[in-house]
Amino acid sequence: MRFIFLGPPGAGKGTQADILATRWQISHISTGDILRNTIKEQTTLGLQAQKHVEVGELVPDTLMMGLIRQRFGQQDTQQSWILDGFPRTIAQAQALDQLLSILHQAHPTVIYFEVPPEVLVERLLARGRLDDTESIIRRRLEIYDLETTPLIDFYRRRRCLKQINGNLSLDEVSKNLRKSLSTSSF
Ligand code: AMP
Repeated sequence: MRFIFLGPPGAGKGTQADILATRWQISHISTGDILRNTIKEQTTLGLQAQKHVEVGELVPDTLMMGLIRQRFGQQDTQQSWILDGFPRTIAQAQALDQLLSILHQAHPTVIYFEVPPEVLVERLLARGRLDDTESIIRRRLEIYDLETTPLIDFYRRRRCLKQINGNLSLDEVSKNLRKSLSTSSF
């Protein structure tokens, strides 16, 4: 079981990934979490990433691919996983394709969580993370529109995209997601 959870910040990808990964005992790979840990450790890489994360910009693709390659070198990612927050650009998606092909892993199913922008701002403000101030949230949403939404078509064309309404309660999204994955024809 391999999944990419795609959607804007605040769509609930992380929460749903946590629930499924626990239920199925598979790895939840959140690039946001990896970056926050790297930043906390204040490594050279962490310091490089910090200046982008703090202002709501994307961390450069080359740096992200370094982190992802490292993560996919670990034992728990050989079979089943959920990628949450990655890829976020077409270049990352193409680099991921290459990496999976080298690792002889079949391509994942992509779940796209759809939530209207006004709901996202409200949700993110309520969450209150350091990068959840209103101006940084708006910047992250702008960047999502610009850099990440092209991935919806990229994966739709490949017929591996499933759309989920993320504008429902946590339990309803969770239920619909399980239903959608169990009837998945991929
Ligand atoms: P998230 O927790 O997924 O909202 O990510 C928090 C921040 O980490 C984002 O606003 C970006 O600055 C950075 N980030 C996470 N994943 C990526 C990625 N795939 N590419 C570039 N930057 C990322």
